Amino acid sequence: MKHIAILGSTGSIGTQTLAIVREQKDIKVWALTAGKNIKLLERQIREFQPKLAAVWEKADAVKLRENVRDLPVQVVSGMDGLLAAAVLPQVEILVTAVVGMIGLRPTVAAIRAKKTIALANKETLVTAGHLIMPLAEEYGVPILPVDSEHSAIFQSLNGEAGNKIHKILLTASGGPFRGKTWEELMDVQVEDALKHPNWSMGKKITIDSATMVNKGLEVIEAKWLFGTDLDQIQVVVQPQSVIHSMVEYEDGSIMAQLGTPDMRLPIQYALYYPMRRPLSGKRLDFFALGNISFEKPDIRTFDGLRLAYEASGRGGNMPTIFNAANERAVAKFLDRKIKFLEITQVIQECMENCAYIEHPNLDEILETENTVYEWIESRW
Ligand code: NDP
Repeated sequence: MKHIAILGSTGSIGTQTLAIVREQKDIKVWALTAGKNIKLLERQIREFQPKLAAVWEKADAVKLRENVRDLPVQVVSGMDGLLAAAVLPQVEILVTAVVGMIGLRPTVAAIRAKKTIALANKETLVTAGHLIMPLAEEYGVPILPVDSEHSAIFQSLNGEAGNKIHKILLTASGGPFRGKTWEELMDVQVEDALKHPNWSMGKKITIDSATMVNKGLEVIEAKWLFGTDLDQIQVVVQPQSVIHSMVEYEDGSIMAQLGTPDMRLPIQYALYYPMRRPLSGKRLDFFALGNISFEKPDIRTFDGLRLAYEASGRGGNMPTIFNAANERAVAKFLDRKIKFLEITQVIQECMENCAYIEHPNLDEILETENTVYEWIESRW
């Protein structure tokens, strides 16, 4: 029996994690947390019977408590609620599927409470990899990647202990705007950017895929997870999204993980690692696929990727500035307040103007996020 808690159970990763729980029947869910979607959370509470449920706003917690008063579930709210879910004694694995830097403190608390982390919330490693990875090592806590590319790399490292990584080949679909020029992207709308060719995901990460900022975040995430240098990570566009990433070893041998674009696979792999379990759904059919093609990423048009390398190379709180600026810019684009191409312009301006801290602690990382938000509000 597996014992888990899910932060962000109402989102894309959260609901797919629960689909696995539904299918496998040997996973007990002890805690579920959501932001605002209390209707879905109530349905999840009724189906999975957790001991604890958390939402962000107090008022929502009051409503939800009333709605589930027939059940033995404790309903809490805010950061305290997320922290309570993260450290619940019965939980062995914490699935971090919230979006944004809100996942930072609960992940730190869970590591200190010796919970295995099934990490989807890439913002945690992007902004605080220098704190999270040593902390996980200190507490002997595994960080198991849920992101499909990082799961592919993790799977390609199986049985290779002691063998040095020469290069990580991080694959990218190229998103809905692959092949487009800067001019063609000038007036693209929210609806166009939300049409991902292969993956069905939450809104924020779908926009991040369209700008290729997501690939930049993944480069930084990979650097921390696998302990490589930045220049050992190469992004390869593979538009069919069947090669989920690869590792090249010193002898030139390349190991890859392939599959259909289905997030349930990496989620399930993290939950049962090192075991594999049957999984329903489509299988990769090479004859139907026909061919797999490769391209270099266009970092002149999709400069978010270039900025991510720059942010990671400068280190300190620069990846936090990059990430926070992107979060706010994407929210503004989704609200139709800025244009698509302005997303990376906002990021670049924040990287040029927000105060740099060389060795930020957790508080300074969270303060940087606020500083970036304030700066954007004063300028955009
Ligand atoms: P979604 O937007 O679909 O879901 C986000 C979840 O976080 C929801 O449950 C949401 O609750 C919750 N949430 C949002 N704000 C708060 C808050 N203030 N307090 C508490 N909970 C909050 O995101 P995804 O599932 O797409 O992504 C989650 C993470 O996984 C991200 O870091 C993303 O980069 C990463 N990831 C996602 C992939 C995917 O395929 N979706 C692939 C790889 C990584 P509610 O909806 O109730 O407001």
